Amino acid sequence: MRQLASIQKISKLEPIEGADSIVKATVLGWQLVVKKGEFNIGDLCVYCEIDSILPEKPEFDFLKPRKMRIRTIKLRGQISQGICFPLSILPSGVKIEEGKDVTAILGITKYEPPIPASLEGVAKGRFPSFIPKTDEARVQVLQDILDKYKGESFFYTEKLDGSSATYYLYDDQFGVCSRNLELIETEENTLWKLAREQKIEERLKSLNKNYAIQGEIIGESVQSNKYKLRGQDIYFFNVYDIDEHRFLDFDESVVFFKNLDLKIVPVLETNYELSGNIEELVELSVGKSVLNDIQREGIVLRPLKEIEDSSGRISFKAINPKFLLKYE
Ligand code: AMP
Ligand code: MN
Repeated sequence: MRQLASIQKISKLEPIEGADSIVKATVLGWQLVVKKGEFNIGDLCVYCEIDSILPEKPEFDFLKPRKMRIRTIKLRGQISQGICFPLSILPSGVKIEEGKDVTAILGITKYEPPIPASLEGVAKGRFPSFIPKTDEARVQVLQDILDKYKGESFFYTEKLDGSSATYYLYDDQFGVCSRNLELIETEENTLWKLAREQKIEERLKSLNKNYAIQGEIIGESVQSNKYKLRGQDIYFFNVYDIDEHRFLDFDESVVFFKNLDLKIVPVLETNYELSGNIEELVELSVGKSVLNDIQREGIVLRPLKEIEDSSGRISFKAINPKFLLKYE
């Protein structure tokens, strides 16, 4: 499971204009509000990311009105993401080391948005082991990666707020998967319905090769249809060559989806020199959606030529704080 709570250093403390009892703290690439005097620069704390669900314990009672979930909030004009707790919330005996993951020790789980019945489907089995699941790391925890790859040629696309779908053809077997499961074909299921409407099986079969394609479904009854579509649609963001165990590069993917006549997520920039500065990347995520006159969810950044780092595929998201404030 993803690391949601860890022991981290307070790297900066700065005043907030017009506020005298709170200050702005920086932890990893995150900025958040803490009480004045509670921490000093260089102190270790337990930092919990947004979308952590904390267990129902007296020390976390203040989160009860928020259903125990840590969200993006704004205090005195300052955006605050996550919470710093003193190390004393850890059970005694836990070894204190910077970077240590304490998610499980504290019983913290990740908030997942509810999935409507039309998208949930009926499970056929687990997600196929020969295809990577869709996921994107948050830029705020990737300073090491940014240091390593800054200056490289990247592209970025609009991150759409929907539900992920994977379609694959493997030795003539067509499969449809949601984020975590492979699904049985039913009338009601939106992932299958789109597969039929857009002739995805036929299109994949025309290639005579084993591929998985992954995209985001948006529209009616998906994440409250922020883009105000009629029906549903899918925008693709990945092509995975199953036999070669690799994702296609950006230019190859563009040609691939053009040939199949399937839509891709909105491409915002194709010649972006990666910045090493997290704040700058978060700034880049702010803007309107290409699909409708609303704040976009954010952006997903990737190198033009795929990079398989020792830590995994280089690909990450920067979420637009204005989107979080509006919709969370
Ligand atoms: P999250 O929705 O925060 O869990 O972020 C990761 C997910 O974003 C992926 O699993 C995809 O389903 C989805 N996504 C939406 N738009 C894009 C995009 N442009 N590129 C990659 N993933 C995307
Ligand atoms: Mn999402």
